[in-house]
Amino acid sequence: MYDQPSSYLSPKIQARPKANGNGNGIFAHHVLRKGELLAVFGGVVYEWDTFNNLPERDRTLCIQVEENLFLVPRPIGDGDYVNHCCDPNAGLSGQIALVAMRDIQPGEEICFDYAMSDTAAYDEFTCACGATNCRRSVTSSDWQLPEIQKRYAGYFAPHVQRRIDAQHKAERNATRAEKYRYNGVNSTSNVLYE
Ligand SMILES: [Zn+2]
Repeated sequence: MYDQPSSYLSPKIQARPKANGNGNGIFAHHVLRKGELLAVFGGVVYEWDTFNNLPERDRTLCIQVEENLFLVPRPIGDGDYVNHCCDPNAGLSGQIALVAMRDIQPGEEICFDYAMSDTAAYDEFTCACGATNCRRSVTSSDWQLPEIQKRYAGYFAPHVQRRIDAQHKAERNATRAEKYRYNGVNSTSNVLYE
């Protein structure tokens, strides 16, 4: 067994208990620039059936990395205490890396939106992140919200991006089919009235 945490955390960031007593969080203690690497998650990858029977602590510290795969930190490190926020300053780059979505100042808590990674209902909760745009309820289907897709473009995990792409393709096809149907009616009308 290794003692080293399975995650990497930038030396410009440290984990500490949150001021509101609501668990731990990670906080910048240097300026972080937009696009800068903040953390890389690691651990053991489980399929849903096994993952779903793990203790709750394992399930809440995990990140979904594919449609049916869940990464659980072993051993847990400071980089694993990244919380959700509905107005985040960090996003995903690939499946396991966290990058700054904007410049981050010392003292700011670093958080991302779980909608960037979650399509499975393993960590749904009532949110009290305090953001003015807090959606109150965080669910595994939030990635479907148009404003979320727009705001986090480029920061979704690949499996979520594939779902978004498939959704948009289906919508385009439906629009096209509707247009053809409409044109078809019109051309019939044209024939009738010519
Ligand atoms: Zn919130």
